[in-house]
Amino acid sequence: MSFLFSPMPTVSVPVLGQASRFPVHRIYCVGRNYEEHAKEMGFTGREPPFFFLKPNDSLVVVEEGQTGHMPYPSLTQNLHHEIELVVAIGSGGRNIAAAHAHQHIYGYAVGLDMTRRDLQNEMKKQGRPWCIGKAFDHSAPIGPITPIAQAGDVHNAEISLQVNGADRQRSSVAKLIWNVAETIEHLSAAWELQAGDLIYTGTPEGVAAVVSGDLLEGHVAGLGSLKTLIK
Ligand code: MN
Repeated sequence: MSFLFSPMPTVSVPVLGQASRFPVHRIYCVGRNYEEHAKEMGFTGREPPFFFLKPNDSLVVVEEGQTGHMPYPSLTQNLHHEIELVVAIGSGGRNIAAAHAHQHIYGYAVGLDMTRRDLQNEMKKQGRPWCIGKAFDHSAPIGPITPIAQAGDVHNAEISLQVNGADRQRSSVAKLIWNVAETIEHLSAAWELQAGDLIYTGTPEGVAAVVSGDLLEGHVAGLGSLKTLIK
């Protein structure tokens, strides 16, 4: 087979303790999935989960022990951090019941759903898609994947983000409105999940702006940390 130009290389994320990497298919993201974050965005109450996607080449893949570099994006004056637990899907399926969801999970990682908040807010106001606010180049930093057997009790883990050493976000994965298993149930009713899919599960409260030169350090207890420098 010949191509007119070089096809896109396979995007992949390192796996802790493994030479083999996790090849990425799609990136799904859950909106407003912690109550206190929903409130700071102006919403209350439990709504059905909703989803958006980022292109897989928007990942900033950070190797173990390294600091990733995210260029400050164009068109925004209000680049926000959203620290998130990321689920890595190891086997796909459709209509996966929450009770069976864990069988489809390969592992977990720490990720940042970086957001051009001013553009997202403008699109919300106009009832238009969020793509320009969410799915831009370099918008999805991610650290190494920890296989599920080594990840500990992720469902009750502390999740936090420091910017230049100061706390910005601190909560618990236990406060997810739709937990990981319920999210997989809802997502797999709408799309057929595939091995290689990543799910950004949503961010707790405390989202705020970062500027060029800021160092972001995210943690989910039991997983590796994620360091990202905004350039
Ligand atoms: Mn998010």
